Amino acid sequence: MHILVISDIHANYPALEAVLQDAGKVDETWCLGDLVGYGPDPNMVIERVRELPNLTCILGNHDVAVMGRMALEAFNGDARRSLTWTEKVLSADAMDFLKTLPQNVKVRDDVTLAHGSPRDPVWEYVLNTLSARLNFDHFETSLCFVGHTHIQSIFQLDKKSDRVTMGTTKVDKLIVLTQRAIINPGSVGQPRDRDPRAAYAIYDSQAKTWEAHRVEYNIAEVQRRIREAGLPEKHAVRLAEGW
Ligand code: ZN
Repeated sequence: MHILVISDIHANYPALEAVLQDAGKVDETWCLGDLVGYGPDPNMVIERVRELPNLTCILGNHDVAVMGRMALEAFNGDARRSLTWTEKVLSADAMDFLKTLPQNVKVRDDVTLAHGSPRDPVWEYVLNTLSARLNFDHFETSLCFVGHTHIQSIFQLDKKSDRVTMGTTKVDKLIVLTQRAIINPGSVGQPRDRDPRAAYAIYDSQAKTWEAHRVEYNIAEVQRRIREAGLPEKHAVRLAEGW
């Protein structure tokens, strides 16, 4: 089965649409959370995601915050401004959909899905081998897919030495997954690895392969609408630079 793995769309509809076009036909879509926050299109993104066939989707910290389940003080000023705006514009329908999603990890076949990390699904960032190593003890499956850092990456556990290595997944390069691994498909709507193109990955559950991808989208249009909506200028600027 070909599975589209996406995360951190952050209300960026043109980026989402570019990813869906580029990915083409897939059997399933797994979305690792943060559908909203930062960007100008929360309703369009949720409408589009919820209609994807064979969808598995979990909540991210921004989603949890707009649902009122987390104090907005947990976010920095600019992120908080976007969340307050999102709360105002979010349709009742979109909110109802978010309410159907789990805040915890979800297991699909041999993969655990988490927004942040398996041991702290909403908040923890898996950014280095230390946090990755600790997290390998918190899921049972061979693989774990996470989002939240907005960086395409792979942490692999060597069984013999019990050590974790960190790697970046090269774009369009197929990786065969032979070891236990924690893998991040990157962010659709706000990449932070200095490559502004929208990020996603394709996981083949039979062949056990992972392929990271990037695709260009109309950044200028999203920036224009961020400014029109009165959202923080920083969130427009960073899209073009990928941080
Ligand atoms: Zn995010």
